[in-house]
Amino acid sequence: MGKRWGFIVALLCCFVSTTAHAAVIEGVRSYRAPDYTRIVFDLSEQVEHQVFSLENPRRLVIDLSNASLATELSVLDLSETPITNIRSASRNQNDTRVVLDLNAQVRPRSFLLSENQQYGERLVIDLYDTGASVQSERIVTASAADVDNNKRDIVVAISAGHGGEDPGAIGVGGIQEKQIVLAISREIERILNQMPGYRPVMIRNDDYYVDLRGRTTIAHQHNADFFIAIHADAFSSSRARGATVYALSQRGATSEQARRLAEKENGADLIGGVGSVSLSDKDEVLASVLLDLSMTASIASSLEAGDKIIASLSSVAHMRRTNVEQAAFMVLKQADIPSLLIESGYVTNASDARNLSSPAYQQQFAAAVVRGITSYFYETPPRGTLVAWHKINGGGPASYVVSRGDNLSDIAERFNVSLASLKAANNISGSVIHVGQELIIPNGLTAPVLAQLTFREHVVSRGESLSQIAEDYAIPLQRIRDSNQLRNDVIRIGQVLRIPSS
Ligand SMILES: [Zn+2]
Repeated sequence: MGKRWGFIVALLCCFVSTTAHAAVIEGVRSYRAPDYTRIVFDLSEQVEHQVFSLENPRRLVIDLSNASLATELSVLDLSETPITNIRSASRNQNDTRVVLDLNAQVRPRSFLLSENQQYGERLVIDLYDTGASVQSERIVTASAADVDNNKRDIVVAISAGHGGEDPGAIGVGGIQEKQIVLAISREIERILNQMPGYRPVMIRNDDYYVDLRGRTTIAHQHNADFFIAIHADAFSSSRARGATVYALSQRGATSEQARRLAEKENGADLIGGVGSVSLSDKDEVLASVLLDLSMTASIASSLEAGDKIIASLSSVAHMRRTNVEQAAFMVLKQADIPSLLIESGYVTNASDARNLSSPAYQQQFAAAVVRGITSYFYETPPRGTLVAWHKINGGGPASYVVSRGDNLSDIAERFNVSLASLKAANNISGSVIHVGQELIIPNGLTAPVLAQLTFREHVVSRGESLSQIAEDYAIPLQRIRDSNQLRNDVIRIGQVLRIPSS
């Protein structure tokens, strides 16, 4: 091919790619919530995008593939946000990079929204505050609004999946999902009942079926602040195992797995797609706009709560996914209540099935779920609740997950507890902590209850010695002695030992 032809071909390529495929960023908006900043890009069509953080200086980069900018970014009102500046550049000829300069650490979250009556395709970037300055602002706001004797409980609706004629998944040895999930749900209820400031509501409390609208109705009747659906999974391969946390998705599922799950349980708790749900015969247009607005808010909260639950569950359960998966679940379709669905494990996997059937594991699993819920509500307590009051008046959260750059003395200072008591509560002798480690904060409202729940149980069988049990659980012998107040190392068959978490 001659030089001239090559030139023409190159031109054609450009022409084709810019007219046939490129999306246009047509507008941009920002919203400032008490705890996060939302940036919305109006798009002519859906785009592939990537969001990542960079340090020195701190900034967030948003790369939009095959997209061009046709709006002024300078119109954005950035006051009271962590964004100091927003700029853009084109990249690789067809792509656009938007850079947000930041003056505080944020946790970013991005998702696409499809068109509704008011807007077209959108890309949403949420920047969640992590800094202490914003947190103290929030406390002041809550303080002004709270009345002293208005310390209501946070209501958590617990929806054990299936029930009655609907067994859910059937697994190894014929174990039924409906029984396992009810047992775990009852544990969550039992533990929450011991927590000051929390009130659990069981959507079903025995082996019967509650239809999907009924589940939502019960949660609403009790003015639930949180809705959690407990399930267990099954798969054709017995190798599939682990727990997964799901939130509702406004549009498609985040993974093939999430999509398949939403489709599979179609007949029971799940329905395959938000689009197939009719909101109302009359004001469908209005309803869809309202639902879009309220649901994106509650999805964001659900994802936040889901992250907390995954952090605490990871110390107990094998996690299939370490991100909150999103799928179109009917039972989670709460327009105004943060909602999550937890697949607690695979009943078709021998190891999961054994765990899920064990009362000790059910208790640990439930305790981890509760730790996730309580740490989420510590960060964003609803107004007028005891948890909000307690936070304003100096109480710490029940637990805290270590982030990069944290050290023990900073954490102790932040939650106004002594370094010694923080170390004692977590059985730390030195000063080494690792990212992702969950620490119990000893002054937390719910910490005394949770501290008891970090124990597993071990039933002594024939031939076992205390030192061997300690070795099996990789725990110092003295800690097992202390946890069980043993005066000597004599144990007997059938004795139940408390095994502290390692
Ligand atoms: Zn299920």
